Amino acid sequence: NQQILLINRPKGMPTEADFKWEEIPIPQPSEGEVLVKTLYLSVDPYMRGRMNDSKSYVAPFELNQPISGGVVGEVVESKAPGLEAGDIVVGMLDWKKYQTVSAHGVKKIDPTVAPITTALGVVGMPGLTAYFGLLDIGKPQPGETVVISGAAGAVGMVVGQIAKIKGCRVVGIAGSDAKIEYLVKQLGFDAAINYKTATDLRAALKEACPNGVDIYFDNVGGEVSDAVMTLINPHARIPLCGQIALYNMEKVAIGPRIQPLLLINKALIKGFIVSDYAERFEEGTRQLALWVKEGKLRYEETIVDGFENTIQAFLGLFSGENLGKQLVKVAEP
Ligand code: NDP
Repeated sequence: NQQILLINRPKGMPTEADFKWEEIPIPQPSEGEVLVKTLYLSVDPYMRGRMNDSKSYVAPFELNQPISGGVVGEVVESKAPGLEAGDIVVGMLDWKKYQTVSAHGVKKIDPTVAPITTALGVVGMPGLTAYFGLLDIGKPQPGETVVISGAAGAVGMVVGQIAKIKGCRVVGIAGSDAKIEYLVKQLGFDAAINYKTATDLRAALKEACPNGVDIYFDNVGGEVSDAVMTLINPHARIPLCGQIALYNMEKVAIGPRIQPLLLINKALIKGFIVSDYAERFEEGTRQLALWVKEGKLRYEETIVDGFENTIQAFLGLFSGENLGKQLVKVAEP
């Protein structure tokens, strides 16, 4: 058995030296617990924030303790009613190959409904983030223009497709030509822009959004957002989902002063955390799964093989290695 510990609080971009792989025994489940074998684990941008020793909506990871996050695993031994060996479960678990957990800490998933990896992506936390952020804060109306940054990632890809379902003009911003092509050709986005190669991002956006921007779903922050904000329409809504461009900055630069534009356009900018919607997760999961089944919601997963490559997969989020949800495959069921 193995686990991955955080051993340093990274400054700027983390490196593999901030983590340690440790050999540990396979534990025995007690009454009410199950022994879970990790099959897939999720690496997520928000984990970078938990590596800092600063107050946020989730507590920091503790030094010399295992990282934890979304995991899909197989029950190999059960001492809990309702779960038996062979069941597939999802939960917030440690980065360990094997671990015991209270049966209340995991949720059983039905592998016949959708591939088990989707519990960490399109019908899991990222899908729910897209669903509630766009529908509850963005409130898209047919014919409106929706711009999404981080558009080819786990959350962004779902946002754009839901906005299409709602009858909007959808414009994505992402960091490679392959991603741009995927968004337009495979997902039916109306336009997409490569922010890394655009010589004038604002001009490219203006061309893609002839009627301005009614909703800006922000996954990245920084200069990309500064450019979008200059094009917002009166009564624009801005679900503030993520700020990945800033997560590794030791000092956050202040961009152009956009506040007067927010003011005169009476725009709404609202930060949110997906767990705010915990009471509605069942509704969201059901709707996302239905759209997937109906073929209205496509998904993409980038899967790195091997527990030893977990940190590399995590760091890849910051250089845009992933199309759709980034996962690590740890073991075969
Ligand atoms: P993604 O799958 O979108 O992966 C991250 C992507 O961000 C990369 O693929 C990369 O794509 C892009 N990126 C990385 N660095 C930069 C940069 N400097 N500038 C612009 N783009 C960059 O991750 P998720 O879908 O899981 O998360 C997306 C965002 O949503 C994150 O900011 C995350 O923190 C946030 N989030 C918020 C939640 C909430 O509850 N509020 C819940 C879940 C996620 P590219 O090639 O396009 O650069």
